[in-house]
Amino acid sequence: MRTHWLPLEMRLAPHLDAVKSAGPVRQQYALLVNPFYPKDPHASYGKHVLTPTLALTSIAASTPAHWDVEYWDENLLQGPPPCDPVPAVVGISVHLTFAKRAYELARWYRERGSIVVLGGLHAISCPEEVAPHADVLAIGDGVQLWGQILNDIDAGTWKDTYRADFKRPYREDPAPRRDLLKRNSYLTTTSLIATRGCHNRCGFCYLSTKGLHMPYLMRDVQQIVDEFRQDGQPYAVFTDNNLGSKPEYLRQLCQALRPLEKIWSAAVSIDVADDPALVREMALAGCTGVFIGFESLQNDNLTDARKKSPRTEDYARRVELFHRNGIQVNGSFVLGFDHDREDVFETTVNWIEENRLECATFHIMTPYPGTPLFRQMEAEGRLLHTDWSKYDTANVVFRPRHMSPEQLAEGYAWCYQRLFSNASIWRRRPQDWRAVPAYLAMSYLYKRSNRFWHLLIKHQLTARAWRPLVELTRRRHLHFRRRLAARDGVDAGRSSSVVSAGV
Ligand code: SF4
Repeated sequence: MRTHWLPLEMRLAPHLDAVKSAGPVRQQYALLVNPFYPKDPHASYGKHVLTPTLALTSIAASTPAHWDVEYWDENLLQGPPPCDPVPAVVGISVHLTFAKRAYELARWYRERGSIVVLGGLHAISCPEEVAPHADVLAIGDGVQLWGQILNDIDAGTWKDTYRADFKRPYREDPAPRRDLLKRNSYLTTTSLIATRGCHNRCGFCYLSTKGLHMPYLMRDVQQIVDEFRQDGQPYAVFTDNNLGSKPEYLRQLCQALRPLEKIWSAAVSIDVADDPALVREMALAGCTGVFIGFESLQNDNLTDARKKSPRTEDYARRVELFHRNGIQVNGSFVLGFDHDREDVFETTVNWIEENRLECATFHIMTPYPGTPLFRQMEAEGRLLHTDWSKYDTANVVFRPRHMSPEQLAEGYAWCYQRLFSNASIWRRRPQDWRAVPAYLAMSYLYKRSNRFWHLLIKHQLTARAWRPLVELTRRRHLHFRRRLAARDGVDAGRSSSVVSAGV
C-alpha cells in the first residue's frame, strides 16, 4: 500500500516535559485547551483548520467577568500550550480519540499547580476512566457548568463532579468568544451553531451515547444573524449536527440570512430535499455547500443503523436538486457496515463520480463507547481492542462481517486515493462551466496540497491562502442568486398570467 507523507508534528503531540520553565500560578486566569490528535494521512490536512470547534469558545463565554481566559488549540502546530504564568484553572475537552493526550496535559498542569477541569463527550460516556485524571469532572453541558465551577473555585468550595443536562433553552447561551481565536489560522473563524441535537438517533452516532440526552433545541434566528455579521467574515460554517431537522426553522433562518449577502455551508440530512422550495431558500440565503451523511448506498445498512432516510435509489435525484441550486455536495460515507462486501469501495466511489459530488469523506465504521453499535459489537465479540486513540474512523477497530479488517483498511485508503486523483477531480467538476475554475482551485488546494497545508498551518497562513477563493466564490454566488431570483420572478409571473388567463 502507498505510504503517505505525514510530518512528525502531525503525528505526535508536542513534547511537554521538554518545557523547562513554568511561571508562578496566576490566580483568576483560566486556560481552555483543545488537545492534539494525530492526522489521517489519507485525508486532507486542510480539514483541521477550516473552522474552529465551538465547544471551548462557547464555554469561554460563560467565564465570570473578573477571570481572564485564553484558548489554545494544539492542532495549530504552535508547540506546547502556555505555562508562564501557570493558569490557576485549566479546562480540557476530552474526546475518546485524544483522551490519552488530554490526560497527559492534565498531569502536566496539575504537577505545576493548576486545578484541572475535564469535560467533553468522553466524560459522559466513560466518567470512571476520566475522573482520576481530573480535579473536577464536568459531565454534560459545559456552558452551564464552567462559570459555576470558577465561582466555586474562587470561594474555595469546589466539588469533584458537576453535572448539567442539555435541556436549558439554547437561546440562553452567550455568543461564543470568537475573539479568543487566532483569526489567521482558520479558513474562517465564523463557526456558527443554530441548533443542537438531531431528529435521528442513528445507532453508530455519538448522539446515541447512553446518558446523553440532547433534545433538538434552536437558538433565535436573530442571534445567528448578529453573530455572523459581528464576526466580519464573508463565509460561515454551521457546525450543527443537522441544521435541517426542523424545516420550518431552517426556512426562517434562511430568510433572515439572505440580506447579509454572505455565504455559508452546513450539515443537513438528505430529507431536507423533500422540499425543493426549501433548498431554493437555502441557495438564496447564501448556502454554497452542504455536508450530507449518506452513510451507505445500501438500504439494509441504513435500516440496521436505524437511520430514517429516503431510499438510497432517490439519492441521485436529491443531489441533482442541490446542484441545480448552485449548492455543492460533500457526502459522508461509512465503510464496513454488516451488509458491505468487498465491492463497496468501488461502488461508492463510482456513485460519487457519477453524481459529481464535489467532495466526500470516508469513515471506517467505528463503535463509539456507550452507543448501541458498541454494545452490539461487544456482545458479538467483534471488537479488536479498546485503544480509544484508534477509534478515529481512520482505523479498523472491529471485525467486519464480510471482509477482513485488512481489506477494510485497504479499501478505505483506496477510496481516498481515487477520490483525490486528477481523473476523479475532473470527472466530478460542476456542469456549469462558470463554477469550474473555483471548483478546481479549491479541489487542488484542499485535496492535493498536504505538504503545503503543513506550512500554511504552521505559519498561520491558512486564512490568507483561502481568502481570495472564498471571495471569488461569494461574488460568483451573488451573481448566481440574482439569476435564480430573476428566474423565480419570471416563473412566478408566468404562472400568475396562466392563472389570470384561466380565470
Ligand atoms: S442523522 Fe447524522 S447527526 Fe443525526 S443521528 Fe444520524 S448520524 Fe447523527
